[in-house]
Amino acid sequence: MNFEAYEDEERIIGRTKQFDDSDEKSLRPITFDDYSGQEKVKTNLKIFINAARKRGESLDHVLLYGPPGLGKTTLAGIIASEMGVGLHITTGPSIEKAGDLAAILTNLNENEVLFIDEIHRLNRSVEEVLYPAMEDFCLDLMIGKGPSARSVRLDLPHFTLVGATTRAGMLSAPLRDRFGMIHRLELYETEDLMKILARDAELLDIKADEDGLRNIASRSRGTPRIAIRLLKRMRDYASYMEKETIDKEVSDFGLNALDIDSIGLDAVDRRVLMTIADVFAGGPVGLETLAACTGEDAVTIEDVYEPFLLQNGFLSKTPRGRMLTKRAFDHLGLAVPASYTDKNRKAFENLSIDDWTDNKGGEN
Ligand code: ADP
Repeated sequence: MNFEAYEDEERIIGRTKQFDDSDEKSLRPITFDDYSGQEKVKTNLKIFINAARKRGESLDHVLLYGPPGLGKTTLAGIIASEMGVGLHITTGPSIEKAGDLAAILTNLNENEVLFIDEIHRLNRSVEEVLYPAMEDFCLDLMIGKGPSARSVRLDLPHFTLVGATTRAGMLSAPLRDRFGMIHRLELYETEDLMKILARDAELLDIKADEDGLRNIASRSRGTPRIAIRLLKRMRDYASYMEKETIDKEVSDFGLNALDIDSIGLDAVDRRVLMTIADVFAGGPVGLETLAACTGEDAVTIEDVYEPFLLQNGFLSKTPRGRMLTKRAFDHLGLAVPASYTDKNRKAFENLSIDDWTDNKGGEN
C-alpha cells in the first residue's frame, strides 16, 4: 500500500507536501550547520563526503528512508552542495520508461547527485537499467530488433544516487543492496524543531518567542514540514489577535482553534481513540469495524492515522485487533475500564514476535 496516496491532503498535520508548503524550497538549508537534528546521519555523511572529496571521487550511493517531511530532499541538496556539485531532482513514478532514465543519466556531469524521491515506485524495467548504472556507471542499450539486435555499452559519468523512500521494505533487494549507505531519518525532538522554526521564522520575517516556538514544535508530530506549516498559520492567528509576536497565548489559541492537542493529535486521531475506548472498552477491535464506527476508510485509518498512534504507544496491534494502551486512556483523561485489564492480558498472550515488530515499525 502506498502511504502517500492515502495521506489526507487537507489535514493541517498531514506529512505530505501541500499547496501551503510552496515556499519550502526557499527554506531548505544548504549546509549541514543549518540542518538541525539527525546527528547520526549527519556525522556519517560528513565523514564520507570529506573522504570522497579528498579522493576527488563521487560519493557512494545513499538511501534515505523515513516518513514524509523529515528532510530527505533537503539532505540530498546539502550532499550536493557540500560535494560542490550539481543536483538533479526527479521522482520514481515520473520515470516511466527505461529510456527516460537513460536520458537523465546521460545528462549528468561527473560526480553530480541524482535525487530520486519515492524510489520504491520505480517500475521493474527502469530498475534494471539502474543496476549497471549504479554499479559500473554504464548503460546497456539494445540496438535494433530480432536477430540483428545487439547490445551496446555506454559509459556514464560517475554520479551519486540519493534515493528517498517512505517505505524501505518496499524496495527490491537488488536495488537496496546497491546503496553504499542506508540511513533512517528519525522523528525530531522538540528542541531540534525549535531550532528549525527559529531559523525559518527569521527567513519568513515572522516574530515568535521561545514559548510560542516550543508550543508549535511540541505539537508538530516530530516533523519539520508540519512545524513550518503551523508556524505560518500561527502568524495569521497573531494578526487576528492584533499581536506582533507569536507567543504562548497566540499559539495556544491558534493550535486549539485548529483542534490540535498537546501532543499533536487532531480531531480524527482522537475520534479513533475515543471510539475504541467508548464503544469497545479499549478493544481489541478489528480494523473494518473501527472504520465503520468512525466513518473513516479502513485504508486511511491504517496508513494515515494509525502509524503515529502506534509509534507513540497509544495503540497496539494484536492478532485480535487494535487495542488502546494505558497511555491512551491517560491522554484521553479516561479511567482504564476494569474489564479491559483482563482482555488486555489475554490479547497480549497471543502476540507473536512479528506483531511486536509491527508495532514498533513506525510509518515505514
Ligand atoms: P522530505 O523530502 O523528507 O519529504 P523535505 O526535505 O522536503 O522533506 O523537508 C520539508 C521541509 O522541512 C523543508 O522546507 C525543509 O526546509 C524543512 N526541513 C526538514 N528537515 C530539516 C532540518 N533538519 N533542518 C531544517 N529544516 C528542515
